[in-house]
Amino acid sequence: MKQAIYPGSFDPLTYGHLDIIRRARRLVDLLVVAVAPNVDKKPLFTVQERVEMLRQATRHMRGVRVEQFGGLSVAFARKRKIHLLIRGLRAVSDFEYEFQMALTNRRFDETVETVFMMPSESYSFLSSKLIKEAVSLGADVKAFVPSFVQRRLREKLDGRR
Ligand code: ADP
Repeated sequence: MKQAIYPGSFDPLTYGHLDIIRRARRLVDLLVVAVAPNVDKKPLFTVQERVEMLRQATRHMRGVRVEQFGGLSVAFARKRKIHLLIRGLRAVSDFEYEFQMALTNRRFDETVETVFMMPSESYSFLSSKLIKEAVSLGADVKAFVPSFVQRRLREKLDGRR
């Protein structure tokens, strides 16, 4: 059975992430979407909330599992005996960081390969950070995130004011 891990913060998920999930799922039998706590990035949503939203958004997709993990993504991959990491690549801005991370991960574990996938061009400039900023300024972001995510964002951001 072919398996892959798609790690990230998903704070919150966007249609960009879902686009990558859909594409990756065509390549493997099981895609584990792995949510990192990422305390350094001061996430808006707790890891449980991020997992729960991803589960809701991927409910209808066969072969997708959402889990949380801690530590290095390569270590998580090794533990699960999965040798494929999926990362999304947007416009050039992602390249340097992703390049660095993929090569560092390779130093940690030669047997885990990182594969980059490009989203549809409509999501090439979309990021969770941008969405959080836009919603905090009152924008309607339903073209970029499912409506239940927009609702959760509003609740969360209103609660913080
Ligand atoms: P991280 O903190 O790991 O960068 P993100 O949730 O921001 O977490 O991203 C997880 C993965 O999804 C990364 O590989 C990122 O490049 C990719 N990604 C995020 N947004 C998009 C998008 N709009 N299109 C394609 N890939 C994306």
